[in-house]
Amino acid sequence: TPLDKIRNFSIIAHIDHGKSTLADRLIQVTGGLSEREMQAQVLDNMDIERERGITIKAQSVRLEWKGCTLNLMDTPGHVDFAYEVSRSLAACEGALLVVDAAQGVEAQTLANVYQSVEQNHEILPVINKIDLPAADPEKVKAEIEDIIGIDASGAVLTSAKTGIGIEETLDAIVDVIPPPKGDSDAPLKAMLVDSWYDPYLGVVILVRVKDGTLKKGQQIKFMQAGTTHLVDRVGCFRPKLTQLDQLGTGEIGFITAQIKEVAQTAVGDTITDAKRPTDKPLPGYQEVQPVVFCGLFPVDAADFDKLRESIHKLRLNDASFTFETESSAALGFGFRCGFLGLLHLEIIQERLTREYDLDLITTAPSVVYDIELTHEGGRIELHNPADMPDPNRIEEISEPWIKAMIYVPDEYLGPILKLCQDRRGIQKNLTYVSGRAQVTYELPLNEVVFDFYDRLKSISRGYASFDYEQVGYRPGDLVKMSILVNGEPVDALSMIVHRSQAEARGRHMCERLKDLIPRHLFKIPIQAAIGGKVIARETIAALRKDVTSKCYGGDITRKRKLLEKQKEGKKRMREYGNVSIPQEAFIAALKMG
Ligand code: GDP
Ligand code: MG
Repeated sequence: TPLDKIRNFSIIAHIDHGKSTLADRLIQVTGGLSEREMQAQVLDNMDIERERGITIKAQSVRLEWKGCTLNLMDTPGHVDFAYEVSRSLAACEGALLVVDAAQGVEAQTLANVYQSVEQNHEILPVINKIDLPAADPEKVKAEIEDIIGIDASGAVLTSAKTGIGIEETLDAIVDVIPPPKGDSDAPLKAMLVDSWYDPYLGVVILVRVKDGTLKKGQQIKFMQAGTTHLVDRVGCFRPKLTQLDQLGTGEIGFITAQIKEVAQTAVGDTITDAKRPTDKPLPGYQEVQPVVFCGLFPVDAADFDKLRESIHKLRLNDASFTFETESSAALGFGFRCGFLGLLHLEIIQERLTREYDLDLITTAPSVVYDIELTHEGGRIELHNPADMPDPNRIEEISEPWIKAMIYVPDEYLGPILKLCQDRRGIQKNLTYVSGRAQVTYELPLNEVVFDFYDRLKSISRGYASFDYEQVGYRPGDLVKMSILVNGEPVDALSMIVHRSQAEARGRHMCERLKDLIPRHLFKIPIQAAIGGKVIARETIAALRKDVTSKCYGGDITRKRKLLEKQKEGKKRMREYGNVSIPQEAFIAALKMG
């Protein structure tokens, strides 16, 4: 395809503004999908993605429109996957900015739009959901101009749901978005945009060819990884997989090369010809680093092998989480896993539970602390509160900070500022645009990882949006808080907290655990402690009678049922010393409420 007949674009949208629905309509109108196939959203592949309304893996679809080839790149919709988003954007020359006609511009839209602007993209505003009674396209246009600072006079008005404005959108893509540039005679230079594991094809790699041509049968080299592979398939998605002989300069498509694990295919890597390599890789390559760590342990120790197998399987398709075996006095054998963020953690945990049918205990999520040691000198990276060195060996502890951008209607601003303040936030900026506040805070990542996002959503009734980037490490007065149940430390619940927060956090944990741990035949003290010093304490009173005694001895089947039910319940509990703690308690106790 000649360069001037190609358009590569992505769709930027806040969650639920209609990105997937619009993409499906574009595919339908250009002939790739029937009405019936339209029913099942094509671009959201996995069940979890659909249920949560997010798109995790970038996908691309090739559309034919009036003699032009349009490549639509779907991008992940969550802050945890920011680097993948940046690479999908780098594979395009423009973006559709989809904004809900009733909701207007939201924070997540902003973060992606700014990235797109940085890539010198041409941005085409699309105001969607104009069928809604509350739709106010003129107001949204003004917002786009005020807040984002781009011309919205040429915005296309659509209803992806009812099919209004779809052809206009396609025409506008051809008119507004510039064709790609590149040198078709130069050595092959292609970007590895994304990869995923397919049980039939092996690893499928999504690529954008910048220079040269990528052909079936070609020997290629991954410049960062340093590996060579033989291309055995080349093609594109229309949205059905279509094999081609080659991908030319400016084109987006996929290749397979008998690769078994996605870990061998780093997003952002440069693919070149092994025999005639390009001299310079593409800019912007980054290795993805997990930022949140937690332990995953089987509730039933006998499930350890199953957990290991399941984790290995998941890893085949997601190279962005890491794991190593971990053993804990109380929890036995499990894995210490690293994730890109909390959503990523939840997705993996949910898949292990749901797809692999495992009962898991997740220990308190933790960020990576940087510890400078006193006597022996040197530094350590602390991934697990259990490995915290003795305080007198520590010269200084530093923790990662983020810059958070929160965008919220005025009426919820007060409680949001309080939330940020409570989480040790430092306010950096506060501006108002058309009835909404945009506030920027610096916050310790540690204060955000657990339930900040949930709290933010609940106090703003879902209206606040949140986006963040890391801004480096800063020293802090951080201490390890242990939780003791019946005098025994429960290491799954120990966490690193700021000294100023320790007492409140400790008291809260003890209160929560008091409700979450069932009564036993004896009294159970629950304590929070720093070093040897107890900072909070609760007691669970002893159970007075045997539960079966209320069956009056008469009804033997009822009695048996009750005992079976107890046994069932037991399976989902862990024993600490002689106290049983239900699985739910581990996560629930950590929520700040
Ligand atoms: P995404 O999260 O941006 O991919 O959004 P989806 O495409 O999944 O759409 C979110 C919700 O909005 C779904 O329930 C859609 O049916 C609905 N939706 C999408 N486009 C429109 C539209 O034009 N009008 C109306 N009324 N609803 C829409
Ligand atoms: Mg979607």
